[in-house]
Amino acid sequence: MLERLADIEKSALEALGSIQDNDALQEWRVTHLGRSSPLMQVFNGLGQLAREERPQVGQRANQVKQRLEGALVERGESIRQAALARSLEQEKLDVTLPGRPFRYGRLHPATQTLRRVLSILADMGFQVYTSREVESDEYNFQLLNFPPHHPAREMQDSFYLEAGERGNNPLLLRTHTSPGQIRAMREYAATNPDNPPPVRIALPGMCFRYEQITARSEIQFNQVEGLAVGENITFSDLKGTVSDFARRMFGQQARTRFRTGHFPFTEPSAEMDVECFVCNGKGCPVCKLSGWLEILGCGMVHPVVLQNGGYDPRRYTGFAFGMGTERQAMLRHQIDDIRYFWGNDVRFLEQF
Ligand SMILES: [Zn+2]
Repeated sequence: MLERLADIEKSALEALGSIQDNDALQEWRVTHLGRSSPLMQVFNGLGQLAREERPQVGQRANQVKQRLEGALVERGESIRQAALARSLEQEKLDVTLPGRPFRYGRLHPATQTLRRVLSILADMGFQVYTSREVESDEYNFQLLNFPPHHPAREMQDSFYLEAGERGNNPLLLRTHTSPGQIRAMREYAATNPDNPPPVRIALPGMCFRYEQITARSEIQFNQVEGLAVGENITFSDLKGTVSDFARRMFGQQARTRFRTGHFPFTEPSAEMDVECFVCNGKGCPVCKLSGWLEILGCGMVHPVVLQNGGYDPRRYTGFAFGMGTERQAMLRHQIDDIRYFWGNDVRFLEQF
């Protein structure tokens, strides 16, 4: 019986020596230490042995069991070490390799320009006033002194909404930021109707026109306009303000010029050009050889508009000016097609 135990021990240890992974190790454990293993059969058969043989065989069997268990733990540990060494060898981390580049998002060029314009206006004392994008005909046109047959009010020039029967006051997507002028003036005037406070605001936002989309016109675009209303505001305040804006926007050297213009909600009205910063006024394709770039429209607030806003035009005057944000960005970065702005092409957007 003792020889049998020696054989069991020997063959088990030999088998263990060739084991290289955990699965095989578990199998070995079942085969050599499990319930029906030869060693356990020796334990089970102890009762049938002669009385004097039992202690010696029992002792020896226990010894073999402890040895096998010890060898099992040892083998498990060395398999674990080998696996670790192997993975360190094979999956070596090279810290000198450059990482994969992260793609960072950023602000859309139209938003960047809008924020730049707003921050300049904020420095000049204009407070941002945001207004709704869905407007009524009343606010978008009527209160801004658009005559009933103005071409902008044609159904085919604006996006009208189906909102039931509203007579001559249908809903539409605003065609400009100017309805915000009326909303702001009315809000300010309501705080003190007999003595309305002065207004100095910047109105930013998306506007919509039902137009053929071309390199120069889009159906959606951002506008920013400034509005100042108060006592003793004159045309020279307007000129000084927009000239200062142009210098802050395009550089202290920027020269400007005014041309007469026409808008229903201002009187008199003007357009301001800035000297072409591409050719410094010599004439180039960007300024179409004129040396000047048109950047904004402006004028003194029409008395009818002041009245509609709750400001008595006999006492108050004001000025307003507005510009297209994408147009400013196009001039600044010499972008030749406005369709890039909403074309969702990252190759364009990543350049800003
Ligand atoms: Zn030029």
